[in-house]
Amino acid sequence: MSRLVAFAAIQGGYNIVSKVEGKYQRALETYNADTKVGFPNTAYYLPVIYSLLGLKVETLEDMKKPLEVARKLLPPHVKGKNHLPYLGPLLDAGMAALFAFEIEEAIRYLEDPDFYLFSEEIDQEAGKIWLGAADDTVFRKRGVEFVDGSAPGFAAIVGAAPDPETAKMIVEEYQRRSLYIFLAANQNGTTVAEQLLQAGVQIGWNTRIVPFGPDISSAIFALGFANRAAMAFGGIKAGDYNKMLHYNKDRIYAFVNALGDVNAEWAAAAAGCVNWGFPTLADTDIPEILPTGICTYEHVVANVSHEEMVQKSVEIRGLKVTISQIDIPCSFGPAYEGERVRGADLHCQMGGGKTQATELVKMAEMNEIEDGKVNVVGPDIKELKEGETLPLGIFVQIAGREFQTDFEPIIERQIHHLINYIQGVMHIGQRDISWIRVSKQAVEKGFTLKDIGVVLHAKFHQDFGAIFDKAEITLYTKQEDVDELTKRARAEYKMRDERVEKMRDEDVEIYYSCTLCQSFAPNHVCTVSPERTGLCGAYNWMDCKASYEINPTGPNQPIEKGECLDPKLGQWKGVNEFVQKASRGAVDHYNFYSMVIDPMTTCGCCECIAAMLPACNGVMTVNRDYTGETPCGMKFTTLAGVMGGGASSPGFVGHSKFNVTQRKFIKGDGGLLRMVWMPKSLKDEIKERLDKRGEELGYPNLYDMIADETVGITEEEILPFLQEKGHPALNMEPLVG
Ligand code: SF4
Ligand code: ZN
Repeated sequence: MSRLVAFAAIQGGYNIVSKVEGKYQRALETYNADTKVGFPNTAYYLPVIYSLLGLKVETLEDMKKPLEVARKLLPPHVKGKNHLPYLGPLLDAGMAALFAFEIEEAIRYLEDPDFYLFSEEIDQEAGKIWLGAADDTVFRKRGVEFVDGSAPGFAAIVGAAPDPETAKMIVEEYQRRSLYIFLAANQNGTTVAEQLLQAGVQIGWNTRIVPFGPDISSAIFALGFANRAAMAFGGIKAGDYNKMLHYNKDRIYAFVNALGDVNAEWAAAAAGCVNWGFPTLADTDIPEILPTGICTYEHVVANVSHEEMVQKSVEIRGLKVTISQIDIPCSFGPAYEGERVRGADLHCQMGGGKTQATELVKMAEMNEIEDGKVNVVGPDIKELKEGETLPLGIFVQIAGREFQTDFEPIIERQIHHLINYIQGVMHIGQRDISWIRVSKQAVEKGFTLKDIGVVLHAKFHQDFGAIFDKAEITLYTKQEDVDELTKRARAEYKMRDERVEKMRDEDVEIYYSCTLCQSFAPNHVCTVSPERTGLCGAYNWMDCKASYEINPTGPNQPIEKGECLDPKLGQWKGVNEFVQKASRGAVDHYNFYSMVIDPMTTCGCCECIAAMLPACNGVMTVNRDYTGETPCGMKFTTLAGVMGGGASSPGFVGHSKFNVTQRKFIKGDGGLLRMVWMPKSLKDEIKERLDKRGEELGYPNLYDMIADETVGITEEEILPFLQEKGHPALNMEPLVG
């Protein structure tokens, strides 16, 4: 071990501890000792101190003890007398520095509560780009990804790259490997976070690039995050430092990239991270610490070029990641799934009410199609000017010995997240209401419609290779072709929907879960029963069953429904237990057949959202394709914004179009006869089934009794109409008791 780096780190440890002791003294002079301190909205106190020392820092007074521990750790005073499993004075000094950093940040929260933005996203306009400590909501949502493998770990980058382009290159390579990128510290006043913004990269928890803070002390938030994950998901008890550090070493693939000159404080922080098994790679010529021991391989590696930084970091930490080599000009991977394409970034779009956009997957004969062929029929994105639109039909043909028509909807539903995986491209919706937004950056990189086909072909092979052999994709952008595909697709959707028509919820013991949407709505769990299709309209009970057959560990799991707790509202013990687990405790029960009392959770994909209209003693529903006002006072987009995040919102529920005419539709609230308003387009779209269902319920002219926007868009406007028609809802028991 180099004496020089050890010296720098130990010196850094002394500097930091002394500095923080000074800050602490000053805080004590300003505030009472019993003043509350801590990071916002967390049950883990100051998490590094709490997890390693078992100390709960809740007041200014409580900071005294951990600061004393830090002071004592500084070598050489307490050699051999400390409690932690240190392998050398260097690591002690590093640990002391980290404890001090955590206290320093807590003092900052006390003295300057607005320094950090309390949010998952930055507010660039207001110049607020530092997010500070993740609160427990964010940490629960994101931390689990470190445990379930969807994020293999994180790269903590401190300092700044020589220029924005280099910062962007490094970070995007990490994103492609699905790693989180935690940013802290500055180099002569410049930070990677600011460089990324200059280079047009979106930062925030949604893109896995987290700007913690501009000082080296904010690097502590990364370690606090890792330790909380180990406590919450790894079952490690607070104070069990041995298990804690081992857990991190073995399970969390993390490392530090130090960009720019490494001063004594940085050296101390790097030494501290070695306790976790997290190595540091620097782009400058600092003394290396190469012998392996605590870290999987080397501890500190110097002189790494920017081109090699990512590859070397990943190698040194022993991380194995599979990168899907998909030949498109944009980056691709789950890290981009949550990224949005906002108005100012938008180059062009397809669907979303502006044009028709439709998706259809159909089985083909083996000799009918050519694997990997992508056809673009009609104008492509290159021909569009900024702000223009195109109609779009995505037609996927699949052939294979093991393929069945039952699998079509499952493959089709993947289109949503796979297109979202493309950096700079956003996909919303499904079936004949899909919507694709393409950003300027994607177009600048050379993105064209063909790339959608390339992505779908490659990913279908990777993810579903077992059930098929060939995929050919055609993208239509001429109006007449899109219309023709849409017509065909609607007939297919209808056939799929009606496959569950004869089944009753009472007839089956097994329902199916769907958690496909958790990447957007982390607590959202759809439970799909024969008489309640998924709220996106794309998955019914049969589809979930087929999906489970294809992928037994996938997002559609069988749920033994178990004891019926409420036949009227539709609640089962087995479902509740499943939902509680799958929502990570956020939702512990819900009702299948009620929108008024504890309805099912809703995510942003729903085809329709129902809302109560108390003055009419009824309910309304509005579909995504209707953009006008509604009698509940909110447009579809507003409703979806309010409740599309995966919560159960009494009084509202997301549902599919088909579900409106399923027998159990809000049965607990009075059923379909409660429906007093719908957009005309929806009413017409489902008229045939509406008539049939109305007849079964004794109201063959129900279609005529339901008001629409031609009657009115407020409760007052539609009530006289309902009275005149003798709408059955008016004589039902009160909707809200
Ligand atoms: Fe699955 Fe529900 Fe999302 Fe549809 S809306 S894909 S059923 S989780
Ligand atoms: Zn969804």
